[in-house]
Amino acid sequence: MNVAATPDPATTTQPGAAAERAYWCETLLLDGEPTAGVRVEVGEDGRIVDLTPGCAPRPRDVRLGTVLPGMANAHSHAFHRALRGRTHADGGDFWQWREAMYLAASRLNPDRYYALARAVFAEMLVSGWTAVGEFHYVHHRPDGSRYPREHAMELALAAAAREVGIRLVLLDTLYLTGGIGRPLAPEQRAFDDGSAAGWLERWRSLRNALGTDPDARVTLGAAIHSVRAVPTAAMREVLAGLPSAAPLHIHLSEQPQENADCLAEYGLTPTGVLADLGALSPRLSVVHATHLTDADIALIGSAGATVVMCPTTEADLGDGIGPARRLADAGARIALGSDQNAVVDPLLEMRGLEAGERLASGERGRFDPAALLAAASGSGYASLGLGDAGLRPGALCDLVEVSMESVRTVGSAPAQLPLTATASDVLRVIVHGVIVADSGRLVSAGAGAGAGAEADAEARLPQALLRHALAALDNTPPTRHDTSGGAE
Ligand SMILES: [Zn+2]
Repeated sequence: MNVAATPDPATTTQPGAAAERAYWCETLLLDGEPTAGVRVEVGEDGRIVDLTPGCAPRPRDVRLGTVLPGMANAHSHAFHRALRGRTHADGGDFWQWREAMYLAASRLNPDRYYALARAVFAEMLVSGWTAVGEFHYVHHRPDGSRYPREHAMELALAAAAREVGIRLVLLDTLYLTGGIGRPLAPEQRAFDDGSAAGWLERWRSLRNALGTDPDARVTLGAAIHSVRAVPTAAMREVLAGLPSAAPLHIHLSEQPQENADCLAEYGLTPTGVLADLGALSPRLSVVHATHLTDADIALIGSAGATVVMCPTTEADLGDGIGPARRLADAGARIALGSDQNAVVDPLLEMRGLEAGERLASGERGRFDPAALLAAASGSGYASLGLGDAGLRPGALCDLVEVSMESVRTVGSAPAQLPLTATASDVLRVIVHGVIVADSGRLVSAGAGAGAGAEADAEARLPQALLRHALAALDNTPPTRHDTSGGAE
């Protein structure tokens, strides 16, 4: 698939144009509470016009069974999907895994990034993630030189999202150093914009290139990679230069080494550095927040920042268990992300959040099912700047129907689905008021449309898209750099 040959992202037709319609849900989990007979009317703008509980369906309504609110994957690196099933047997730690990840990054170009992102976004959509915050830092060629087409990698992500119909918040990421006080390693050159000013200029230009999307199906947010990758002076420039409405994300204290390096350089924890810069606020989302001090927890909580926990990734990489309950008690919002995409399943992220708490505390119900669902849905949407009203008139109409008849869910109280269902139980997925996926398949074949019935069927299957995208990567030799610099 050639990105240059795909339609301009600004004019790509969405799968199934939104028209005024109504869904009738046999049961809708409203604020985690199962509510019977809910009619959801959708306007042409993809937003909820009216929501009426306790009513009967009308003849033209689309009838749904048990329905959850749309769920936002607040932290993803789509290309890490290339490592799934290939890094789990060799032991090691986060830092060794990262070497494999850099090799995968070096195989990307706009075409291959588009194909892989389209496949991963398709997998997310059929799994019940209706929105994704893509934490994107592979901006340039492996040697750091620019692609001839401006914003080629970013437009590849936007085109991929538009084609499958997932809501994308592109968290374009600033990445300047290979560790605190260290230059970038050769394998990190593709991430580099040279300076905060250079990144801000590219960010503003990218905003124009993406165009204004009144539907909020593809929007632009921002990210600072971490205190490891961005010096404080550059962070200050970013905070001053970004519009206040843009959501801002940062990796925080995923590894003890980051904390040790930060204390040695600044005499502060990474959270302390952010507090010192005035960066902690409700517009900020900190990702992982695994290794925190009591003072860090109080700072993040009192600022009302969001913490994006990534339980399946943190478990896979042996990162540790973050203090989610304590952060929530201190005032932070908890959202969820799939991060490295070794697992793409919002229900397993919910369950992982609670499982970590139970294993660490010896108590059940640290987050009740309604709180788990709020983390995956409303808090995730808020973290990505997509509104935090929940399912209300005026909110985006994103819904996920879940089977109550599977071997996993039969007999479940609907309110307890976050502890029983998996992505395999997801039936119809509605984004922007339109059904975009059904029982593991995309509804529209997107760019595959018109290529024959068999090709159309393949183009609707995430696993077929993944197979093609991974084969293209596997057939590309990685760029191996001289890594004698040993930077982190
Ligand atoms: Zn990450």
